[in-house]
Parts: sequence; structure tokens; C-alpha cells
Amino acid sequence: MRGSTRAQVRSAEPLPVTPGVRRLGWCLLGLAIAGFVTCGVGALLGFGARDKIRKLQCRGNLDQIALLTLIYCGDHDGWFPPAGTWCDSVVIPSGDSMRWLRCPSAPRARGGYAFNAALNLRDRGQLDRLETIPLEFDAVGGWNAAGGSELFTPRHRGYGYIAYADGHVKQHVPEDLADLTWNP
Ligand SMILES: [Zn+2]
Repeated sequence: MRGSTRAQVRSAEPLPVTPGVRRLGWCLLGLAIAGFVTCGVGALLGFGARDKIRKLQCRGNLDQIALLTLIYCGDHDGWFPPAGTWCDSVVIPSGDSMRWLRCPSAPRARGGYAFNAALNLRDRGQLDRLETIPLEFDAVGGWNAAGGSELFTPRHRGYGYIAYADGHVKQHVPEDLADLTWNP
């Protein structure tokens, strides 16, 4: 009985801390901090890279959609498609291209872009300064969405992409929209 009490007292005594143990402790703490910092920076870089890839994909989608729209115009004496069926009229006939209508930052939406409704059945050849006229853009509204700047969605960290009637694509913040020719 007395022996076991002595053993308990002995086991409760702190272990002697030798310089080697202390060094090992600091080493482990250093490794933990280094690991934490590396993981944090890695995660940040990962988010940034993913975001960049989504932006590139979105821009690529609008490049393709705008190109298909210009091809459509070429095949229809210069006329833009009906705004209410633009996805069906322009993109679907080109074959395996559904993915171009999905913005990678809104993967659940079947259609992540809208058509400028002011271009509904307009003659492209009659329009001036095509490079200032929005054609298709990042938007809410889904399949065959058509409208104006009210549909623009800056879903890429405050930015959204706009394809213009001359085929070029540019990123914008909502404050830019007032300067564009939405109703040519
Ligand atoms: Zn997008």
C-alpha cells in the first residue's frame, strides 16, 4: 500500500527536461509553424489559380459564343438571331457546344449568359461602332436569357465578361456599363 502510494507520487513528478528534449520541442514547434504557413499560402495560391482558370474559361466561352453569333449573322444576310431563342438558334446547331453556355462560376445554371435584347433581329451591317455594343455577357436568367445591363452579373470576384458585336471580349465592373451602347 505504502509502496504503491510512493509509485504514484513518483509518477506525478515532472520528467527531467534535458537540453536535447528542449531542442526537439522547439524543432517540432518550428515544423508545425512552417507547415501551417505553407498550407495557408498554398491554399491561397490554390484559390487564386482556380479563380484565374474560371475567368479564362468564361472568356473562352464568350469568345466562342460571339464567334458563333457572327457566323449566324453571316448565314442570315447579316441579321442577328431572335433574342428569345438565341441559345437554340446560334449555339445548339453548332453541335457539341452546350458547355460554352455554362459559366464556370455558375456551373448549375444551364445558361450563364444573356443576349442583348436590343439586337433582336437587327441588321448587323446597319450598326455603327460595333466594338461598343454588348452582344452576349455574364448574366442571370438562364437558357435563352435576353435583356440589357440589368442582367449583367459580375460573378468573377466583382468582374463579369462581355462579348461585343465585333467579336472581342472584355472584363467589366458594373460601373462600366453606363458607358456602353446597349441600345444602338
Ligand atoms: Zn462568367
